[in-house]
Amino acid sequence: MNNKTKAVKLGNVIVGGGHRPSVQTMWKEALSKNSLDTLPERIKKLENLGCDILRFSAPDMEQAGLLGRLSGMVSIPLVADIHFDWRIALKCLDYPIAKIRVNPGNLGEAWKLKEVAAKAADKAVPIRIGVNSGSIPKDLQNHQDRAEALVIAAEREVEALDALKFSNVIVSMKASGVEETIKANRLFSSRHNIPLHIGVTEAGPIVQGCVRSTVAMYALLTEDIGDTLRVSLSGSMEDEIAAGLEILALAKGKRERADIVSCPRCGRASFDTHAFTGRWKDRIYSIKKPLTIAIMGCVVNGPGEARHSDLGITGGGDKIIIFKNGKIVRICKPEEADTVFGEELAKLI
Ligand code: SF4
Repeated sequence: MNNKTKAVKLGNVIVGGGHRPSVQTMWKEALSKNSLDTLPERIKKLENLGCDILRFSAPDMEQAGLLGRLSGMVSIPLVADIHFDWRIALKCLDYPIAKIRVNPGNLGEAWKLKEVAAKAADKAVPIRIGVNSGSIPKDLQNHQDRAEALVIAAEREVEALDALKFSNVIVSMKASGVEETIKANRLFSSRHNIPLHIGVTEAGPIVQGCVRSTVAMYALLTEDIGDTLRVSLSGSMEDEIAAGLEILALAKGKRERADIVSCPRCGRASFDTHAFTGRWKDRIYSIKKPLTIAIMGCVVNGPGEARHSDLGITGGGDKIIIFKNGKIVRICKPEEADTVFGEELAKLI
């Protein structure tokens, strides 16, 4: 828990002030009028997977209006990501948006920021200042220490809002480099009590992105730096959430959700564990209990792992064996595996 930062309220989620770091992802499509009604159900699935906060880009007035309408249709806090046009920020603030991400330096004349800050203050909506290594101010681009440049850029934005007596802020300083991300967040955290949103930006495809994000965020979270986080992947929102929760569980030594132990597969496998895990992972990750579910391929390691799990499934020649709390509870044919596993999972939860 990070007790060093002040608490900032985003709808029903508190960021900072010693609260558990929240997990975010970002919606990966543009909004459209036609699909708006289908989104609450899709968003609910992300919430069930453990998403605490969901960010959307709002590149124009039409998208801002759609996002605003959506914010009134769901309970999860929605964040509007705005660049350059202060009118989009003002429009988003007409709706129950939980936070806006604006970089004061991108808005142009000072009066525009003043209008945005006044309306955000009036609505008690926090602002996230998001500094990114790809869009650092020109005069800092050749700074010898890139991490320090990120901090200076963030501090300038904080000061601009401070001058307007607006302090309901969260800061992020994201770089695609791991060391830079760690250093910038450590430095900022040593100077301020503002809650930090942490992450490695544009971290890459799933394997590279997860590895980089884990190294950076584990280091920070174990030092109690980071109040909310996002794993930015060239992958799905579901994977971003699962990765964020896994990093959080490892860093904080506390698991809140079901965990999967699964076989990497080799020539001994008599059961397609990869396909099975793919079909079941989102369902398992939605379980809000610290259960361990084992999905194993053969009788060499399978029964051993499955026995140490709350529920385990393993291939056994032409059969599938299901274990629960160390005991075999079902034996079935491979084609019955999903049905039988689903029945036992339902009984368990
Ligand atoms: S559980 Fe069996 S099939 Fe899977 S990797 Fe281990 S030995 Fe191979």
